[in-house]
Amino acid sequence: MTIFPDGKLYIDGTLREAANGATYEDISPWTGEVVGRAADAAPADMEEAIAAARRSFDTTDWSTNHAQRRELVWKLGEKLKANRDRLAELARHEAGSALAAVAVAQVDGPLSFIDTLFEIFDTIEWEKPMGDRVVWGVNSERLLVKEASGVVGVITPWNVPFYITVGKVIPALLAGCTVIVKPAPDTPLLSAILGELADEVGFPAGVLNVVTGKEPAVLGEMLTIDKRVDLISFTGSTGVGKRIMEKGADTLKRVFLELGGKSAGIVLEDAPNFATSVAQSIVCFHAGQGCATITRLLVPRSRYDEAVAVLEAAYQGYSQVWGSFDDPQNVMGPLISERQRDRVLDYIETGKKEGARLIAGGKAATDKGNGWFVEPTCFVDVTNDMTIAREEIFGPVLVVIPFEDDEDAIRIANDSDYGLSGGVTSGDKDRAMRIARRIRSGTVGVNGGVSIAVDLPFGGYKQSGIGKDWGLEGFDEYLETKAIAVGG
Ligand code: NAD
Repeated sequence: MTIFPDGKLYIDGTLREAANGATYEDISPWTGEVVGRAADAAPADMEEAIAAARRSFDTTDWSTNHAQRRELVWKLGEKLKANRDRLAELARHEAGSALAAVAVAQVDGPLSFIDTLFEIFDTIEWEKPMGDRVVWGVNSERLLVKEASGVVGVITPWNVPFYITVGKVIPALLAGCTVIVKPAPDTPLLSAILGELADEVGFPAGVLNVVTGKEPAVLGEMLTIDKRVDLISFTGSTGVGKRIMEKGADTLKRVFLELGGKSAGIVLEDAPNFATSVAQSIVCFHAGQGCATITRLLVPRSRYDEAVAVLEAAYQGYSQVWGSFDDPQNVMGPLISERQRDRVLDYIETGKKEGARLIAGGKAATDKGNGWFVEPTCFVDVTNDMTIAREEIFGPVLVVIPFEDDEDAIRIANDSDYGLSGGVTSGDKDRAMRIARRIRSGTVGVNGGVSIAVDLPFGGYKQSGIGKDWGLEGFDEYLETKAIAVGG
C-alpha cells in the first residue's frame, strides 16, 4: 500500500536519487506495510553533501547576509505551514503517530513555533561594543562579534522527527550555518520533504542538504569524523550520543547532544486533586516514545495503596480507547518498529523477573492491527535500583515508586543517570518550588505547568545531554563569539 511519492536526496541544490539508485522501504508502524520508498544514500552521496555544505559556507555570503538568509528561511517556514496536511499524513503513517499527537508535538506544535523562532532571531546581538581598555600598556577598542559556527551535521531520531528537525534546522540556518540533515532510517520522508521545499524556495546550492539512508550508523558517523563538519547537533539515545562524542574528539568538533531520559514525577500527599494527578500519569502519549515523558511516578507511602487503586482503575478504563488510527482524541498508537516493540517487551519481562508487580498491560496487543502495539503497562512496588526504573524503555511503561518524605522523593528523583525532565504536584506551591529547584534536570513542570515551549531552552543534565534546543540558547549552539581588539 504505497501512498507517498518516493523521497529524494537534496544535495548541493539538487533533488535526486542516491548515486547508485538504491532505495528502501518506508514501513507503517500501524500495519507493517510499505507506505513509501526513500533514497538509500551511499557514502559517496554523503561525501558530496559535506563538500557542498563546506564550499557554500566558505565561499558564499550565506553566513554574513542576515537579511537574505532570513527571507529564504522564512519562505521555507511558510512552505512547511502550507504543507501541514502532508506532514500530518507522514507523521501518522511513517512515525506511527496518533491523531491527537499530530495536533501537538508531531506537526501542529512545531509549525506553530516557527514564527517565534524568527522573533528570537531578531533579538540576536550580532555585534557588541566592549569599549576601550588598557591591557599591558596597550589601549584597545574592543568588539564582540557573533558568527555562525560553520557546517552543521544534524542527526535526528524517529520519535518526533519533524519537531526536532524544525528545532535544529531553522535556528542553524538562521544563525548562518550550512546544514546536512541525516534523519533516522525509520522516518526518512518527514525529512525528505524539507529538501523538496527548500528546492522550491530556491536555496543557494549546498546551504541545506538532506541525506536519507537505511543503515543507521554509517552516514552519521561520516559526519562525526569529517573535519569539514564543525558541529554535530544530535538528538537520540545516550549510547549513540556517547559514541558521537568519542568519534568527534579526533577533530575536536563541537557536539550538541539531546539524549535520553528517565524522568520522575512527584505527587505529594497534599496534592489537591491527588487521584486525578495520579491517574493522569499513565504513560500513553505516542506510546511512551518521548524523551521527556515522566516514566517514574513517585507517590507518598502514606497514600500508596490509594494511588495503586487509582492507577488500576485508570488503566482499566483507558485500555479501550487507545490504538485507533482515526480517533482525533487518541494519543497512543504503535511503537515505531518490530525491533522497538521487542525491546519494550524484553524490559517488561525484566521488570517481572526483578519482582515488580504488574497491574496493567504487559503484553503485545494483537487486537489493534498488524503493527507493533504494546499495551499501556504499569508496574508498582518498584524500587529505584530495578532495571525498569533505571533504563529508558521508550515504550508505554510506567513504574511506580513509593517515597517517605520530601527529602526521600528528591533523592529518588535524582538517583538516575539521566536528568531531562520532571514534575512536582502539591497543594503548596512554595513546597513544590523548593523541590523543583533541587531536581537535577533541564526542565521541571510544577502543578501541571508545561516547560516545553519555543522560547524556553530544552536540554538535559547528566547523561541526558549537553546543550539546549529552542529559545535564544538554541541559537547560541550554532554561534561562535569572536573578540576583536583594535589598537592605537
Ligand atoms: P538512536 O540514538 O538510535 O538514533 C538517533 C540517530 O542517530 C538516527 O538518525 C541514527 O541513524 C543515528 N545514528 C545511529 N548510530 C550512529 C552513529 N554511530 N553515529 C552517528 N549517528 C548514528 O535513537 P533513536 O532510537 O532514533 O531515538 C530514540 C532516542 O532518542 C531515545 O533515547 C530518546 O530519549 C532520544 N530522544 C531525545 C530527545 C531529546 O530532546 N533529549 C528527543 C527525542 C528523542
